[in-house]
Amino acid sequence: MTDPTLLPTAPRTIPRDQHAISRKDISPSALRVLYRLHEAGYGAYLVGGAVRDLLLGEHPKDFDIATDATPEQVKHLFRNCRLIGRRFRLAHVVYGREIIEVATFRANIDDGSGDREQDQEGRVLRDNVYGSIEDDAVRRDFTANALYYAISDFSVRDYVGGFEDVNNRVMKLIGDPETRYREDPVRMLRAVRLAAKLRFRIDHESAEQIPKLAPLLQEASAARLFEECLKLFLSGHAEASFLGLEAHGLLAGLLPETAVALASNRSGALRRMLLEGLRATDARIAADEPVSPAFLFALLLWPAYCRTLAMLQAQGVHVAEAERRAADRVTLHQVTTVALPRRFSLPMQEIWLLQARFTQRQRKRVVRLLSHPRFRAAYDFLQLRQSASDSHAEDIAFWAEAQRDPDHALEVAALTAESDEEGESAESRGPRRRRRRRPVVVGH
Ligand code: ATP
Ligand code: MG
Repeated sequence: MTDPTLLPTAPRTIPRDQHAISRKDISPSALRVLYRLHEAGYGAYLVGGAVRDLLLGEHPKDFDIATDATPEQVKHLFRNCRLIGRRFRLAHVVYGREIIEVATFRANIDDGSGDREQDQEGRVLRDNVYGSIEDDAVRRDFTANALYYAISDFSVRDYVGGFEDVNNRVMKLIGDPETRYREDPVRMLRAVRLAAKLRFRIDHESAEQIPKLAPLLQEASAARLFEECLKLFLSGHAEASFLGLEAHGLLAGLLPETAVALASNRSGALRRMLLEGLRATDARIAADEPVSPAFLFALLLWPAYCRTLAMLQAQGVHVAEAERRAADRVTLHQVTTVALPRRFSLPMQEIWLLQARFTQRQRKRVVRLLSHPRFRAAYDFLQLRQSASDSHAEDIAFWAEAQRDPDHALEVAALTAESDEEGESAESRGPRRRRRRRPVVVGH
């Protein structure tokens, strides 16, 4: 049992008539699990993001349950239950496609009796120390994420002041911010992501430490950072998440080369394009249209790609070779921080490398590009570039027509080229090949 004086605020029970959580908004499967645990004599609570979202009138994306039953006791109660995890041992109760996660209350204290491991920087590697509901509350990250909805009396239990913080729309770390970020640097990203998603502000003390501790992200697991990136940018709040990362000095921790490229792009065109692309991503998600991690990362790393390409060209590397090398180099450097799997990094590179081919007009090449599996994504990407720099209108018009009627597009292009040449002076009339190898220009 936690010493009650260690809790950040006095424990508080908010009765049913003083909060907005109704059982009709809880998934029937989660209710079944809660009732079964309760009937068997165990404590049974809805917890975490679900309670927070229900209080805000939002629809939770999953329903997590906390209990004082051990994972083995939970397994005993449900035929459709499997135990998973090593660092955190959890029970999954499965109803068709829905999985209800049931976790035993855990403690953050290390009195030597449990099963806990930390590394030298204070990061938790393994922790299976069971504890009381108060212990479980204080080991969570934010006060808004540490509320419990009790099925026994339909009240909300608050040990850390989260109820007030949800009402005031503030993300506030439980405990000392520096310690909590050092334990798990990903909490910095979670602060920004949840604030963006819920339209919360980050509490002053929780925000203050972030720029200083941002470099700790370099030591976080690259696989976990990849997952976190998908949540940041593919959950419908990409623009707000990006602005939050920038505002709190986290961009360099997550996308180091893009951060450098944005800082050195004086015109701001690269940043404009990035924001435009993130807004488009949010709009697609709002409209229930598919989004792809390959396209997302093509967008996020485009500034880094443009900068690297310009540097290689300045060193005299021929454009086609420079493009290939830039794509490889940016990918190689980025995956040490965010483990982008090859099934996404390869199509991401294709989207980049296809950009230069949009200036080509020879029949064979046009037909080949139109049938390229990545054509559509690359064309969408070209449109994004246009939105920020307004210098690809001619290519976009050509390829829009080419998708409808390639022969007609080619005829029109040939006529336009002829009339252009007639109007040109003898000196400026270079060989036609000139147009075909236009390099990608930084900032466009
Ligand atoms: P989302 O709506 O994105 O799912 P969430 O708050 O439910 O947000 P999850 O990742 O599903 O986020 O985590 C569930 C709960 O587990 C959180 O509400 C929080 O209480 C706890 N938690 C998650 N990650 C951490 C962490 N890094 N440190 C401490 N507690 C955490
Ligand atoms: Mg959740």
